[in-house]
Amino acid sequence: MYHDFSAFDSSPSRVIGKSALHQQFSYLKRHFHVVPLSELTEKLRTGGRFHTATVAITVDDGRRNFYDVAFPVLQELEIPATLFAVSSFVNGEDWIWTDKVLWLSCQPSAPQELAEPLLDGFFARLNVLRPEERDQSIANIAARMGTKVPPQPPEEYAACSWTEIRTMADSGLVEIGAHTVSHPILTTLTHEESWREIWFSKTQLELGLGRSVKLFCFPNGKVPDYGSIHLAQVREAGYEGAVTACSGMVTTSSNPYQLPRMGISGFTDFLSFSKSVSGVEYYQESFQKVGRARSD
Ligand SMILES: [Zn+2]
Repeated sequence: MYHDFSAFDSSPSRVIGKSALHQQFSYLKRHFHVVPLSELTEKLRTGGRFHTATVAITVDDGRRNFYDVAFPVLQELEIPATLFAVSSFVNGEDWIWTDKVLWLSCQPSAPQELAEPLLDGFFARLNVLRPEERDQSIANIAARMGTKVPPQPPEEYAACSWTEIRTMADSGLVEIGAHTVSHPILTTLTHEESWREIWFSKTQLELGLGRSVKLFCFPNGKVPDYGSIHLAQVREAGYEGAVTACSGMVTTSSNPYQLPRMGISGFTDFLSFSKSVSGVEYYQESFQKVGRARSD
């Protein structure tokens, strides 16, 4: 699970630089079967088998830095990936609210609560608010900083255009999945609202792309961010699979509508990356959990 890319390799940050990305993707190509996510979900739904060293690359949100930085690497290495796009973002209607918070956190007048060690806590408080309350909180903190969130995203937070999305889909290397209309935390919405976010994002993307959209990604994607009603709505809308942000590995018994992923960012050094994708980290943590449970 990737999010943000940069042409430059700067000091560790959530954004991954191009040469680190090239090293990671080359490693995947050398040691794994890199498959489109739809191939994996299809096999899970039909009971098909897949090689144990199988990897599907996914990228969330639909920022242009994916098109500019990562897409050329996918082309060079000829490996596939899935891009989960927020439909109103690609339509140019708004930019992603989490990016607005990140933008505020980088301003010189940013308060202590937006500093890196406290930022997760700030997001956790916003994640339980309804969208209008969340937006009000973001506007309030901007006002306290003596600034305003720009109506259009600054360059590093900009969306792919429809032309870029279509170019990637037409390459045969990038499949486009839906990631809601406006990136809300689904559990803060009414059931009618979550249905619209899940169904209408698929419709908007299909109209823009001229091809069907079969995969879905839950915003924020942790256990409190979606519930059984949303899993049912994703099936009802006609998707064939969905991913979460829960950390883990896919097995033949995984639910294709609730696939775990491994988060990779600019903070992930190459050793951690190789431990992550090989499963070493996952099994290490699993054994530690078992060990702790036994000693309790
Ligand atoms: Zn997202």
